[in-house]
Amino acid sequence: MQFNSHFNDIAQSYLFSTVAQKVAAYSAANPGSSILRLGIGDVTLPLAPAVIQALHAAVDDMSKKETFHGYGPEQGYDFLKESIRGYYKSNGVELENDEIFVSDGAKSDIGNILDIFAGENTVLVPDPVYPVYVDTNVMAGRRVMYMNATAKNGFLPMPDDSVGADIIYLCSPNNPTGAAYTVAQIKEWVYYANKSGAVILYDAAYECFITQEGLARSIFQVEGAKTCAIEFCSFSKTAGFTGTRCGYTVVPKALTRGGMSANKMWLRRQTTKFNGVPYIVQRGAAAVFTAEGQRQIGENIAYYRKNAKMIADCMDELGIWYTGGKNSPYIWLRCPGGMSSWQFFDYLLQNVQVVGTPGAGFGANGEGFFRLTAFGSNEVTQEAVQRIKGLLSK
Ligand code: PLP
Repeated sequence: MQFNSHFNDIAQSYLFSTVAQKVAAYSAANPGSSILRLGIGDVTLPLAPAVIQALHAAVDDMSKKETFHGYGPEQGYDFLKESIRGYYKSNGVELENDEIFVSDGAKSDIGNILDIFAGENTVLVPDPVYPVYVDTNVMAGRRVMYMNATAKNGFLPMPDDSVGADIIYLCSPNNPTGAAYTVAQIKEWVYYANKSGAVILYDAAYECFITQEGLARSIFQVEGAKTCAIEFCSFSKTAGFTGTRCGYTVVPKALTRGGMSANKMWLRRQTTKFNGVPYIVQRGAAAVFTAEGQRQIGENIAYYRKNAKMIADCMDELGIWYTGGKNSPYIWLRCPGGMSSWQFFDYLLQNVQVVGTPGAGFGANGEGFFRLTAFGSNEVTQEAVQRIKGLLSK
């Protein structure tokens, strides 16, 4: 017997554990200090009232024989898929119900989708990157290549004809950089993938933070994307489902290679290895798309946007270069004074007790950068911004 030796090739992720250790050590040495956390990408506001109401009603359904639900369709209930389809339609994208697969969140599907791809495929990911894209492929023994996301290209790498890859990951608005592609830029990627035969795995987990006209909310806003792309979405950041767990993946029927259909394969994979998202959770997710639900989650997103603006305004005032913050909950800033990511982390922690995430933890190009998130409370964010201003304007 042998275990999968590719697990030996995964870089140990020290990022968040190192952050936690450093914060714990500081707290122990400075008892009573007030530490402000703008590091982790988890939401802080509770679920919207419309969602809570739907969850309660669904719990009641489960208590009665006539409305009890056992195993559901692995790919999701029609009531939710219909709502998702309507949402896409409002963004000008026509989907069929059986192109939508309800999931327990984007992370699982991003990892699981690899079941339908050949092991020999090569993979192209941006650097810096959401680590799940890299680690899931390394676990499967695939070769991973990187494309540079730097200040020079606004952290939005574009296709390069000299690089051949079978699977390309795009994340927009991006974690960690907050940069977001325009529809025009996505058009170039779609053209490139259709020409080369590559498949784009498009992560739209932060789509709801887009405010600017002309930015892509879905890769399927671009004609031709259905023959080269799969899209991952999530209720986590949209509606505070990080702990409730629900998302969806769009696998177009037009996506075929070598006579094989990605949609049929994914359906086969899901019906074999997945038994669906709980009925109760799907009812809660469907409530997100009601008029009341949309209004309420809009308020929550506006709350986080206010934080993002506070942080962005602070950087503007201090003359610090950054991306994100405008169409994203993440602000990706260049560490001042030529500090490295970890030097700046220590500098903020030691001097003003503000915790962020060192960019170097997301890839080589992240060195010298730093991520702050807008998912804290307004009060904590305001206090953190005041402290940062006080420190850096000296
Ligand atoms: N994709 C990106 C870019 C993320 O940052 C995250 C979570 O932080 C996810 C996907 C995972 O989302 P979910 O909670 O739906 O699994």
